[in-house]
Amino acid sequence: MLPYGRQSISEEDIEAVAAVLRGDWLTTGPAVTAFEEAISAVSGGHRAVSCTSGTAALHIAYAALGIGSGDEVITTPMTFVATASCAAMLGARVVFADIDYSTGLIDPEAVSALLTAQSKVIAAVDYAGQSADYPALQSLANKVGAKTLADAAHSVGGSANGRPVGDLADITTMSFFPTKNLTTGEGGAVVCKDEKFAQRAHEFHFIGLVRDPSRFEITDEGPWHQEVHEYGVNYRLTDLGAALGLSQLRRLDEFKRRRTEITARYNAAFAGVDGLRTPVQRAGVDPMWHLYPLRVLGGRRREIFERMRAAGIGVQVNYIPVYWHPVFAQQGYRRGLCPNAERFYAEELSLPLYPALTDADVDRVIETLLSLVG
Ligand SMILES: *Cc1c(COP(=O)(O)O)cnc(C)c1O
Repeated sequence: MLPYGRQSISEEDIEAVAAVLRGDWLTTGPAVTAFEEAISAVSGGHRAVSCTSGTAALHIAYAALGIGSGDEVITTPMTFVATASCAAMLGARVVFADIDYSTGLIDPEAVSALLTAQSKVIAAVDYAGQSADYPALQSLANKVGAKTLADAAHSVGGSANGRPVGDLADITTMSFFPTKNLTTGEGGAVVCKDEKFAQRAHEFHFIGLVRDPSRFEITDEGPWHQEVHEYGVNYRLTDLGAALGLSQLRRLDEFKRRRTEITARYNAAFAGVDGLRTPVQRAGVDPMWHLYPLRVLGGRRREIFERMRAAGIGVQVNYIPVYWHPVFAQQGYRRGLCPNAERFYAEELSLPLYPALTDADVDRVIETLLSLVG
């Protein structure tokens, strides 16, 4: 089976991890510091906090923004459940804004209609690897004193209007799961424009420990002292993961080039084919294509999915609208809430896309699909 996504591991990556195993620090050592600095460098220079997953990054980001009960988080249903569930876990009410049917990205007009005095975060997702319309979302957020969050699990390595992912929203979360644009095994990061949120993100992911003596409330202990002001968790990335991520970051441009080539090959093959719709790219965005989200029209998505799988091609569907998940449905979120997202979901079929896919693999995907829809 040709997978739909897959990591790309080089001998240099392996050597980088082996070097950590031979060294003194397995976690919270120099590789973590270097990786966070490197993520910061590709994210507009804002402080980055590494962590154990993209889900952890979302939990950290919402916690750093101080989200809790009584707050509303406006987000898209066209995402992995964690974008919404991590806000809900902290007690926030999740409000789903519909997407732009052409791109799958959250629609600023839909967000605008849902803004209230309780809106604390507008959380967009860079679906498939292209950035959402952050200038529009930021001006909406500013109206009510909310913050913007970019779930950039798909778009690390991309940019919009000349600004890199990480520099587009108040707070950006990343995932380094093996199928994503670069990997640390499991891993993620939070990038914060405001140092106050970055420090809070750091402390939340580090058990809440405060280590700066100038902030101590207990002042008569010794040099060993550290103290907790707010609860936290242990979401620390290991040096093993960080060393892998640092090595992978050096290959990000190469990954991007190959993902762009494959996307162009699919686009050329499917453009104008009856019953298919190729992904739509927003003006001004330089995407890092993580998914190739083809649309299959005429109610044939499931049939094509099953026949592609039967032909050994690992297609996927991204995503079931988040509020269809029973955990949301039980709270009263009803089907029909976001019609564009539901229609997009009904048609969506993600084709294999990863750097090691050969042109021959891509052509096999194309030929198989064309023979099924023809
Ligand atoms: C993968 C993903 C996540 C979660 O990342 P993990 O590292 O798998 O926890 C969150 N949001 C989106 C959009 C994702 O694709």
